[in-house]
Amino acid sequence: MKVTFLGVGEAFDETQTNVCLLVEAAGRRMLMECGANAPSTVWKKSTRADYLDGIFISHFHADHSFGLPALVMRMWEDGRTRPFYLFGPIGSQRFIERLMKMAYPGMVENVPFTLRFRELQRSHRWDDWNLRVVSTRHSVPNLGLRLEAGSPQKVFCYSGDGMFTPTAAKLYTGANLLVHEAYMDDGLTKTHCSLMQLERLHDLARPERMALVHLRRDLRKQKDEIIKRYRRRKWTIPEAGDSVTC
Ligand SMILES: [Zn+2]
Repeated sequence: MKVTFLGVGEAFDETQTNVCLLVEAAGRRMLMECGANAPSTVWKKSTRADYLDGIFISHFHADHSFGLPALVMRMWEDGRTRPFYLFGPIGSQRFIERLMKMAYPGMVENVPFTLRFRELQRSHRWDDWNLRVVSTRHSVPNLGLRLEAGSPQKVFCYSGDGMFTPTAAKLYTGANLLVHEAYMDDGLTKTHCSLMQLERLHDLARPERMALVHLRRDLRKQKDEIIKRYRRRKWTIPEAGDSVTC
């Protein structure tokens, strides 16, 4: 399983692409999130119309989903024919179709390949991939994800945005790689996660590796200091373009 960090930024960081991950395992390629400024980063990776099998959207904020119309539109222009899978929370189809209609009127009705929406509740089997989700605490409904794939089986977990719940900590347990948002330094926000709170999650879920993304723009500037402060944890704060093989 290979995970590439195409983007690692929060919504309003002038130096970063919104969080956008590429997961490759068992012959499949799935994008995680496609925020407003993410599509060009995806196209720099590959311009093949069939490159991606699908996408997972954790929630409907612009920095996680507003790049979708451009992503799909370019696949159309570049001649995609095979279906494209869209995984997300309940209401995904309605939200994404509305977004596409606003962006490019007529595209939903005329796109020449099938958009297969999969609104996730608990678990979903996608051939050799097993997806499980839980709700976390964010200002809008957000899904935390556990993905199991490959042989030997590898486990990738991703938080989307938001504060983890006990159920989410359980879902992430034993992950080979846990990618979690870290919006705040300390303090107890109810709709995001702080570095302080992540120490607790680390102790609960004990992932093999933990990578922090979506750091608030001022916090991200202290990256070296944070890594030093938490060196016992061996957390990584990836840069765009970095990848991890589990
Ligand atoms: Zn959000």
